[in-house]
Amino acid sequence: MKYSQLFPKTQREAPKEAESINHQLLVRGGFVGQLMSGSWTFLPLGFRVLQKVTQIIREEMNTTGAQEMLMPLLHPKEIWNETGRWDTAREVMYQFKDTRGREFALSFTHEEIVMDEVRKHLRSYKDLPIKIYHFSTKFRNEPRAKSGVLRGREFLMKDLYSVHVDEEDMYRYYWRVKDAYMRAFKRIGFEDIKLTEASGGVFTDKHTHEFQVLAESGEDTIYYCNECDWSQNKEIFDGLVGQDCPECGKGKIWQAHSIEVGNIFPLGTRYSEKMGVFYTDEQGERKIPYFASYGIGPSRVVGTLVEVSHDDKGIVWPKSVAPFDAHLIGLSGNALEVYTKLKEAGVDVLFDDREVSAGEKFADCDLIGIPVRLVVSEKTGDRLEWKLRNSEDKELLTLEQAVNKLL
Ligand code: ATP
Ligand code: MG
Repeated sequence: MKYSQLFPKTQREAPKEAESINHQLLVRGGFVGQLMSGSWTFLPLGFRVLQKVTQIIREEMNTTGAQEMLMPLLHPKEIWNETGRWDTAREVMYQFKDTRGREFALSFTHEEIVMDEVRKHLRSYKDLPIKIYHFSTKFRNEPRAKSGVLRGREFLMKDLYSVHVDEEDMYRYYWRVKDAYMRAFKRIGFEDIKLTEASGGVFTDKHTHEFQVLAESGEDTIYYCNECDWSQNKEIFDGLVGQDCPECGKGKIWQAHSIEVGNIFPLGTRYSEKMGVFYTDEQGERKIPYFASYGIGPSRVVGTLVEVSHDDKGIVWPKSVAPFDAHLIGLSGNALEVYTKLKEAGVDVLFDDREVSAGEKFADCDLIGIPVRLVVSEKTGDRLEWKLRNSEDKELLTLEQAVNKLL
């Protein structure tokens, strides 16, 4: 892709109201645009990152045997009345009347919608387990939408739902999904991620599990053991920093700020009971199935990556989700030829072909944050200067060597 043709270009200044790093850098880099507080456009560059994040999540969900589908976002009041959430979740749910006086809500989650579909089809234990998911928009009336794409009033979520014959089968799958989440987050590029016990909010009385990325700027506070995997959210932690770990006894408890990128919920029979979902077991008896739900916010994931991976010049994307494989800067005539050859070799390259100063091209390259920078200039001759975004080391490579390193 030629940078001259990309919409839009970088901007020097961050918007005045941009408080968080991800807001500043994503807007300056041309990744996202803000319509109003909590409402974001993923522009072509940002959409590329989002697509790569969602693809990794999709692949990992599919390894658990889950099936992808797509559910509606406009919901009738009646379905939310079945579980009482029209009233109990009123604060977070956008509710409104149409011109004929019918009441609707915009989706803030999909448990009720899944349960409605399941009860229409579920007959016997042979139909279980069911594992279905989608990527779609969620609407939430967030009081503080100040953290850039970390907290949208409208945002993207991957939500998976599973239905099981009993609690044991539910938990067996629940832990499989936990592992799949961990793999997805590792592939996306998070290094410091904690599986944290938390309360369930409006969802459940039992513990849920959050996936927390340690980040100075995070809104959450978690406690974790410096030796083992034990971790609890502030909402449920009852102890002191520095105390011995209640799990392993060897480590000490530390405190940190963090960003929640995922959350999984063992919901049990609560929704099935309220919504009249049944199946018949092997003995022909009517039983209530167990239910769990699992969420990841891919748009928040993009913002979180920026929060934990940037420097004073701009974003530093991990290779797995970077918008392009390489950023080619042309300072001399044969750059176009190099660009064409890279593309032919299958390299997804962003080519800065503008007639602007070298300094401006280098600064934009650092701001945009693609992991590999390639420069073609009089100085490099028939070679390319190769430099990683997170290193100062440079080397001269032939085109073939560069392609081999990239693919
Ligand atoms: P928070 O406590 O941060 O408000 P939550 O616990 O209400 O989030 P969940 O219902 O657990 O959110 O949603 C599952 C996932 O969806 C979260 O782990 C997060 O990645 C994402 N998410 C939730 N709310 C938002 C939001 N307002 N903007 C962007 N992503 C969000
Ligand atoms: Mg949560």
